[in-house]
Amino acid sequence: PTDINKLADEYLRLSYHGLRAKDKSFNATYKTDFDPNLPQLEVVSQDIGRVLLNLINNAFYAVGGKEAKDAAQSRGEEYVPTVTVTTKKLPKKVEISVIDNGMGIPDEIKDKIFQPFFTTKPTGQGTGLGLSLSYDIVKGHGGELRLQSDRGKGTEFVISLPCI
Ligand code: ADP
Ligand code: MG
Repeated sequence: PTDINKLADEYLRLSYHGLRAKDKSFNATYKTDFDPNLPQLEVVSQDIGRVLLNLINNAFYAVGGKEAKDAAQSRGEEYVPTVTVTTKKLPKKVEISVIDNGMGIPDEIKDKIFQPFFTTKPTGQGTGLGLSLSYDIVKGHGGELRLQSDRGKGTEFVISLPCI
C-alpha cells in the first residue's frame, strides 16, 4: 500500500532540488493540492514514482522555456514558472495531475509524444523514453495516462489509477 500524496511530494522535492542544484538560472516554483482523504493504493511504488518523476521533470523543463514567458507577457501577465501536482479521490479511482504553465504541446505532435524515442529536446537532453515508459507503467497498473494541453498556456498530464 502506497501513500500517493507522500510519494508525489517526495518526487516533486527531489526533482526541484536536483534541478536547482544543477542550474543556477533555475527559477521555477511548485505547488501542491493534495486530497487529504486519498486512500492508500496497491501499486509498485518505485514504478509510479518513476512516472511522477518523468512527468515532473518534463513539467519543469517546459516552464523553463522562453515561449511560455513570452506568451504570458503578451497577455499582460507576469510569468511565474510553476509546476503543480494535485491528487483527487473519485468514485473507484484516484487522479494525480501534473500541471505546468509552460509552452504547451502543439496539436501536431500530441499523438506522437507517447511513442518511444520521440523527443523535441536538443540532442543529449532527452531520450524520448519518459512518456512511453510512463504510459506502459500506468497501463500495467490498470490505469490511464491522459494529456491536456493548450498552446501558450500549459500542459496537464493526468494519471488515473483504479482503487476501491
Ligand atoms: P523527453 O523528455 O526525453 O523528450 P518524453 O517522453 O518525456 O521524452 O517527452 C516526449 C516529448 O513530449 C518531449 O520532448 C516534449 O516535446 C513533449 N512534452 C512532454 N511533456 C511536456 C510538457 N510538460 N510540456 C511540453 N511538452 C512536453
Ligand atoms: Mg521526459
